[in-house]
Amino acid sequence: MKKALVLGAGGFIGSHMVKRLKDEGYWVRAIDLKEPEFSATVADEFFIRDLRNQQAVKDSLILAAPDQAFDEIYQFAADMGGAGFVFTGDHDADIMHNSATINLNVLDSQREINEAHGINKTKLFYSGSACMYPEYNQMDPENPNCEESSAYPANPDSEYGWEKLFSERLFLSYHRNYGFPVAIARYHNIYGPEGTWDGGREKAPAAICRKIAKLSSDGGEIEVWGDGLQTRSFLFIDECIEATRRLMQSSFAEPINIGSEEMVTINQLIAIVSEVSGKDVTRKHKLDAPTGVRGRNSSNDLIRRELGWDYEMSLKQGLEKTYGWINDQVNAADN
Ligand code: NAD
Repeated sequence: MKKALVLGAGGFIGSHMVKRLKDEGYWVRAIDLKEPEFSATVADEFFIRDLRNQQAVKDSLILAAPDQAFDEIYQFAADMGGAGFVFTGDHDADIMHNSATINLNVLDSQREINEAHGINKTKLFYSGSACMYPEYNQMDPENPNCEESSAYPANPDSEYGWEKLFSERLFLSYHRNYGFPVAIARYHNIYGPEGTWDGGREKAPAAICRKIAKLSSDGGEIEVWGDGLQTRSFLFIDECIEATRRLMQSSFAEPINIGSEEMVTINQLIAIVSEVSGKDVTRKHKLDAPTGVRGRNSSNDLIRRELGWDYEMSLKQGLEKTYGWINDQVNAADN
């Protein structure tokens, strides 16, 4: 039986990955600062640990003989959030320090385990982000360029993006110098049920679903960050998990986009949620709110070519599932 370790398994993508790996018959150990908020973990073992602590990481990575090492490690643990957390500048030191420390600890602990036992079988997945792409290619909302080859000269618009760029290079360095098998994704706005929807770290689709769910059945006004003309694409969680599994099963070891190419403005995103909810929504724009780059869209040419994978679900289909779930959360919180 294959054994997988999921770091950040109490979070959105990590908890979905644990479910998928269990469905595929893996034995799974899961680590996080907290248990999943919205459904009980299905991992075989779940440990509450702080991965900034190197001993905690070593304890997490080692298995009893004769296995010694995991077949696969999924590294999702990071200080993470939407524009209200990442783009204000208020959390930059923690974002850079915490996430980089976790990645440094994981890679060097695995190197020690490999050297101690004379093995090198563990494949490591790293959850990078489209936030590492340079701002200068994302100024035109109609025409952003996020091809993998456009990463340099680097100029991400946030410290979160700089840390993601550093850490993908860190994983590549361990691949080059220690022969670690690695898989590195650049995720583009993953959304869906059981994602953070409140509290300041939620991302745009969840925030908009929440605001509209809170309106009366007739509808009403919601606050929108920026002029709403900024563009993005959004990938539904099930498709993100599928693409990530395919990447792990391939031998492709360069950073690769995992996203959707269905680019919309934030105003269009609101119009879709309005239609899904059946509520009339008017917008009040908060022009001094943090918004990130002006335009961003995934470029899937490389992943289509290398893995034969592409997104299939329309944004409207994904938002139907997501709005339904967030609406239930809002109603449950009100009662
Ligand atoms: P999330 O915040 O839901 O999950 C991250 C988890 O890491 C949280 O449960 C958190 O408690 C845990 N964590 C943080 N610090 C830790 C520590 N010191 N020790 C142990 N656990 C710790 O975020 P997510 O949306 O599931 O994202 C997962 C990964 O994918 C992150 O690395 C994120 O940067 C990356 N990513 C996500 C998106 C997206 O749209 N969701 C886009 C690009 C990249």
